[in-house]
Amino acid sequence: MIPFSPPRIDDKIIAEVVDTLKSGWITTGPKTKLFEKRLTEYTGGKSTLCVNSATAGLEIALRWFGVGQGDEVIVPAYTYCATANVVVHCGAKPVMVDVNADDFDINVEKIRAAITDRTKVIMPVDIAGFPCDYDEIMSLVSEEGIRRKFSPNNEIQKQLGRIMVLADSSHSIGAKYKGKHTGSLTDVTVFSFHAVKNLTTAEGGAVIFNLPEPFDNEEIYKFLCVLSLHGQNKDALAKTKGNWKYDVITAGFKMNMTDIMASMGLVELARYDDDTLVKRKKIFDFYTSQFKDDNRFVLPVYETADKRTSYHVYLLRVNGATEEQRNEIIRRIMTREVSVNVHFQPLPLLSFYSGLGYKMSDYPQAYDNYKCEISLPVYYDLTDEQMQTVVDAVKESVKEVMG
Ligand SMILES: *Cc1c(COP(=O)(O)O)cnc(C)c1O
Repeated sequence: MIPFSPPRIDDKIIAEVVDTLKSGWITTGPKTKLFEKRLTEYTGGKSTLCVNSATAGLEIALRWFGVGQGDEVIVPAYTYCATANVVVHCGAKPVMVDVNADDFDINVEKIRAAITDRTKVIMPVDIAGFPCDYDEIMSLVSEEGIRRKFSPNNEIQKQLGRIMVLADSSHSIGAKYKGKHTGSLTDVTVFSFHAVKNLTTAEGGAVIFNLPEPFDNEEIYKFLCVLSLHGQNKDALAKTKGNWKYDVITAGFKMNMTDIMASMGLVELARYDDDTLVKRKKIFDFYTSQFKDDNRFVLPVYETADKRTSYHVYLLRVNGATEEQRNEIIRRIMTREVSVNVHFQPLPLLSFYSGLGYKMSDYPQAYDNYKCEISLPVYYDLTDEQMQTVVDAVKESVKEVMG
């Protein structure tokens, strides 16, 4: 069976993890701090906090901004549940909006229509690694009329004076928008290093701060180090270096990254541009070359004049397929020993969100994109022969079902 997205575990990763295990320091320590520094350099953001998942990173960013009861947070209807779940954790309301037809990202005009005087945050998601329309989103929140609607209810919100843009860039580390990396495009950006993501630390995530003047992104980082570790004003490493005594300044969370995770991340980041992305692009380009002259398929957009994907997920659509036909195609692809997936079930299709009253019919484009979508295997160790097997399995299965 060709797997969907196994992690790349080679001798380099193993050696670096073993080095950490033998160092005597396995939780948050020097490697986490170094990984944070490298991520800041790589993304062009202003400071970076590593955490134990993207979900945790999104939640701590919302909590830092003071999002709670009575607030609204705009999210795409087409995303992984984590994007909306964290809004629910904070007691706020996820306001879903529909997505684009060409790519799968949140639609900016639909964002505009969804803004109210309760909107505190917009969370664009770079689906499949393809960056959202960040210039348009950042100018939207800065528009005079939209600023006037914003009603801050704490000092941080007052200081920003507008809706915060918190990018869920779980898929898009290394992606570029007008020459700049994700992480440097919005107020705050969160990456995921979960096992299936492009760059993995098994589980893990990073929060990149890039807030405008007069915010001090280094100070915010220091405060969030405390907030992500029980509100303890010294971490375990600091306690070993001098005074044991510490204070707890708030009932904080437990979200810190360990040095074991960071050691994987350091190896992955060092070879990310020259190795990982090169291989992933090769796979994307191969799939595109094989499906492009066949009008049974709608190909994903992943490189344009302004945008370059991180080549995370290859979102192939089967022209005219119903949801049932797509499911049958997938069943047949699987019998040909190829693992495929669907990214994602739009949130209103999930029982928790439909139970809250969200209706799929309010997001017709998200449904149209979803119903005929099949995600193909993309991972470092995929061979040329396996890529061809994937293409053949897809074409044969589509022929059987669609004629
Ligand atoms: C994977 C993913 C997340 C969650 O990442 P974790 O690190 O597993 O918490 C959030 N949003 C999107 C769009 C994702 O695909």
